Amino acid sequence: MKICIDMDGVLTDFVTDALKEVKKKFDIDIKYEDVYGCKMGALIYANMTQETKDKYSIFEERDVYRYMCPKGFFRKLKGLPGAVAAVKKLIKAGHHVIFLTKPLEWKYSASDKDKWLDKKFNTKGDRPYSLIMIDKIEDKKLIDADVFVDDDIRVLSSVPLNAALCIEQPWNKEFREKQFEGRTFPSLADATKWILKNAEWLSLPDNGGINASEGK
Ligand SMILES: [Mg+2]
Repeated sequence: MKICIDMDGVLTDFVTDALKEVKKKFDIDIKYEDVYGCKMGALIYANMTQETKDKYSIFEERDVYRYMCPKGFFRKLKGLPGAVAAVKKLIKAGHHVIFLTKPLEWKYSASDKDKWLDKKFNTKGDRPYSLIMIDKIEDKKLIDADVFVDDDIRVLSSVPLNAALCIEQPWNKEFREKQFEGRTFPSLADATKWILKNAEWLSLPDNGGINASEGK
């Protein structure tokens, strides 16, 4: 089975370290549980004084990222609890794991993410997974896969409902509670347990829709 796994917010704890950088650089104090929306840059920009914007030459949301995620930032991120071990189980069970991620920018974060995976999976160049980086988050739906594990509501709402597994994060709380009818899990480790239990059914080309009796 082909399983697409997002990195930030699913495999790696991007937000904790990003908020630390924001506090350090801009003296803006945002708590993890208060993060909302799909774009961290927009959230930080909205909380920034004009004085800070002028000081750092920040003219638009995306300018925030060069301060929030400097070179090497992604390479040092912590894995979310149990996440790497969970992926190793999927690989061991014979599934094709595809890390499907959108780098914030290509100059540093793309190679940092590749190196992060190399280190955590101790690959020495022989990767037991695929890594696909896309430029637009909307392009994730173009990938042919049986399952997409993600925390981004734009991805979860654009792939077939049965394939969309949502990792619960504060920024998708409202979406989960008001809109999303798919399956949600507190962590990638929990989603993995469910995938392994339902692999046979999930890999069927027509798996009967969200209300199918299997996969509950
Ligand atoms: Mg994400």
